[in-house]
Amino acid sequence: MFNNIGRFRDLSSWRKAFKAQWKQCRRTRISVPLNPKYRPDPYKWVCTCPYFVKSRFLLCKHLVQAVHPVDPVFFLEVQRNRTIPFWSHPSLIPLLPPTGPTLDSDAKGDDGVGSDDDGDGLVDTGNSVELNPGRETFHERLTAYIQTMRDFCDGLEYQRKFQDSRFLNTLERQGAGFFRLAENCLSREHRTNSTRSAAPTTWEQSTANVMFYRSRPVPSDRDT
Ligand SMILES: [Zn+2]
Repeated sequence: MFNNIGRFRDLSSWRKAFKAQWKQCRRTRISVPLNPKYRPDPYKWVCTCPYFVKSRFLLCKHLVQAVHPVDPVFFLEVQRNRTIPFWSHPSLIPLLPPTGPTLDSDAKGDDGVGSDDDGDGLVDTGNSVELNPGRETFHERLTAYIQTMRDFCDGLEYQRKFQDSRFLNTLERQGAGFFRLAENCLSREHRTNSTRSAAPTTWEQSTANVMFYRSRPVPSDRDT
């Protein structure tokens, strides 16, 4: 890990962008009470807030503010991982011990509203993650795929300047199944949300592989 330390004397461009996003997350106020649906886990470096999965670097204010302030060397050395925890470095030290109360259960005490619970009062208890490991595994697996795709998209952009059609052919051949699925999901979603085109039928052959993909609401209906 320290073999190439000379290369990192200046921050590479992704590290600069990472640092900027980190600082912004550090500065951004976390509204109190914390939305009880958000479960930041700085040990696994995952959070269930929407900002986290959309973030190029898998950062959010909940996670960045759940660890002690980092040394400047952190930004030179931090390692990106393919699986949880997505970031690792000795100076990444959570504020709270792993067995102690998590941030979300902390904030839950101030909450007392639970307006979006379904009434049983059990949905958002601090223990629900432990009681329901399948759900967390789903979240972690999905996050790992999203991260791989985002990272790969950046890598694909880099290929542009080389114009090597051998790579493009490989991408098309090896990625065909994946791209077909993506196009089917997005096309079904587009048609579901479009007032002009016919609604997709359930058993249409071209879209049978998207039956478990939930279409996103049209932008004006989405949560912001
Ligand atoms: Zn978060």
